[in-house]
Amino acid sequence: MMLNGKTAVVTGGSRGIGRAVCVALAQAGANLALIYAGNAEKAEETLQMLSEYPVQAKAYRCNVADFEETKAVITEIHKSFGSIDICVNNAGITRDKLMLSMKPEDFSTVVDINLTGAFNVLKQVYPVMAKQRSGKIINISSVAGLMGNAGQVNYAASKAGLIGMTKSIAKELAPRGICCNAIAPGFIATDMTEAFQDKPEVMNAIPMKRMGKPEEVAALVAFLASPMADYITGEVIRIDGGMAM
Ligand code: NAP
Repeated sequence: MMLNGKTAVVTGGSRGIGRAVCVALAQAGANLALIYAGNAEKAEETLQMLSEYPVQAKAYRCNVADFEETKAVITEIHKSFGSIDICVNNAGITRDKLMLSMKPEDFSTVVDINLTGAFNVLKQVYPVMAKQRSGKIINISSVAGLMGNAGQVNYAASKAGLIGMTKSIAKELAPRGICCNAIAPGFIATDMTEAFQDKPEVMNAIPMKRMGKPEEVAALVAFLASPMADYITGEVIRIDGGMAM
C-alpha cells in the first residue's frame, strides 16, 4: 500500500489502459478521480471495480480538450479530495489516415485531445503540486511518438509533443521534488487496437509475438507513481515487447 492516502487523477479512466491504471493505483492505496469523455456506463464499471478497495473513487465527465471545462473539473477534484499527488494523462484518440486524405480537423482533433488535453490538465495540477512540493506526473505517449507511423501523422505528432512536454515539465518541477515521466506503449489490447488484434503483420513486428495487456502498462504507472521511482524524471519508458528497440 505504497500510495496510501495519495490522490490520483487519471484521464481516460473509463476503459482500456486508464481503467487498469485506476485499479493498479487503488490496489496500492490511492484515492481515484477518474475523468472520461462520455461513456458513463464504462466509467461506472470502473468505479464498481474500484469499490473492491478501501479507497475513495469518483468519476468526472470532462472533455480534456476544453480548457474551461477541465479547469472546473480539476478545481472540483482538488476541493473534494484535498490534494492531487499523482496525475496520469492517459486520455487519447486516434483518427488514422494517410496524410493525403487527412483533413485539418483530423489533425487538430487528435492534437487537441492527446496533447492540448494534457496541457489543460497540467495547467491546473502544476500549481497544486508545486505548492505541495511533491507529485508524480505520468504522460501516456506511444512508440508512434518515437518512431513515427504511416497513417498517424496526427497521432504521432501529438505523442511526440507529449514527450517534449514531459521533459520540459520535468526540468521545471525537478527542484520541487516533482517527477514527470512518459510511457511509450506499443500495441496494447484495448478498444483502440481492436482492428489490429491477431493480425499476423502486427505480431511479426513485435519480438515478443503478442500484444501487451493494459495491466502491464498499469504496473509501470504504479511503479513510477511510487516512492521507488523518486529519482526518475524526464524519462520515456517503452513498454512494447521490444517493438521499437
Ligand atoms: P481507449 O480504450 O480507446 O480509451 C480511451 C479513453 O480516453 C477512454 O476512457 C475515453 O473516455 C477517454 N477519452 C477520449 N477522449 C477524451 C476526451 N476528449 N476527454 C476525456 N477523456 C477522453 O484507449 P487506450 O487504448 O486505453 O489508450 C489509452 C492511452 O494510451 C491513449 O492516450 C493512447 O493513445 C495510449 N496508447 C495506447 C496504445 C494501445 O495500443 N492501446 C498504444 C500506445 C499508446 P470514454 O470512455 O468516455 O470515451
